[in-house]
Amino acid sequence: AKQKGGGQFRFFTQQMQRLALEALHVEYELRLAMQRGELELHYQPQVDLRSGEMTGVESLLRWRHPEKGMIPPAKFIPVAEDSGLIIPISEWVLEAACRQAKQWQEQGLPPFTVGVNLSARQFERSDLLGLVESVLASTGLAPERLDLEITEGALMGDVESARYTLTALRAMGVKVSVDDFGTGYSSLAYLKAFPLSKLKIDQSFVRNLENDASNAAIAKAVISLSHSLGLTVVAEGVETLQQKEYLSACGCNIAQGYFYSRPLEAHAIGEFLADTSRL
Ligand code: C2E
Ligand code: CA
Ligand code: CA
Ligand code: CA
Repeated sequence: AKQKGGGQFRFFTQQMQRLALEALHVEYELRLAMQRGELELHYQPQVDLRSGEMTGVESLLRWRHPEKGMIPPAKFIPVAEDSGLIIPISEWVLEAACRQAKQWQEQGLPPFTVGVNLSARQFERSDLLGLVESVLASTGLAPERLDLEITEGALMGDVESARYTLTALRAMGVKVSVDDFGTGYSSLAYLKAFPLSKLKIDQSFVRNLENDASNAAIAKAVISLSHSLGLTVVAEGVETLQQKEYLSACGCNIAQGYFYSRPLEAHAIGEFLADTSRL
């Protein structure tokens, strides 16, 4: 048994080494990707459930790898987080999203917000406020067009500094949404302490709403409690007409998901807006 245990241990360390090497390789490639301009943003429409109008888009990071094709963020954000590359990447994302939003505005598209995902690490940095300010100044985007998405986890760390940051962002006119609500440990009562604009119900509660009575009940309760706190509610991962109708009947304000659109390249947003069949 002893021998077998040793063998397992060796197997385990070999696995660990392999994983560590893989991560190093991805990190190396990711650095190159930034230098070569292989990162890009796609934008997923967010639709007002009452009017059918597009009220915003969420920017979602993609890596257009020369050989491997389009790589989704789940494949490289964890490596970026661990290596600290997430900081320059996030700065690029913020700048690129704001620049694009300003460009849509200059093309004469009706006003809508652009959502940007902030990593917890970025949210905790003392230079976040300065960064947001300088990006808004350099791109000329109106602050109320920017909607920063942060997860519950980021708010749960240092409550006092989170409150300070959110208050300062609000004073600047920037919107802040809580992302993936329901997956962390925070409660709505807890969120009450923070100045927030929107709450996004995590897609795990939207999925299967039709067949999962407890998901349906959770979504309904979250919508009603959010409204009592004065928050606008966004449902993510809406894929079917049934989901959309249920959420709409519960008073959910905004929906995002494949039912309306997959994330699109920037140039396709104008076309989505022009399609009046939703209205
Ligand atoms: P998220 O912020 O929760 O983003 C929503 C994810 O759900 C996106 O995946 C989107 O493509 C996907 N999605 C949208 N509608 C549907 C639907 O109807 N059904 C299903 N099954 N999925 C849907 P994506 O683009 O792969 O992004 C995954 C995660 O990566 C994001 O989750 C976010 O946490 C992170 N991420 C993406 N872009 C950035 C970024 O610029 N910075 C940071 N820090 N994280 C990012
Ligand atoms: Ca998000
Ligand atoms: Ca989300
Ligand atoms: Ca998510």
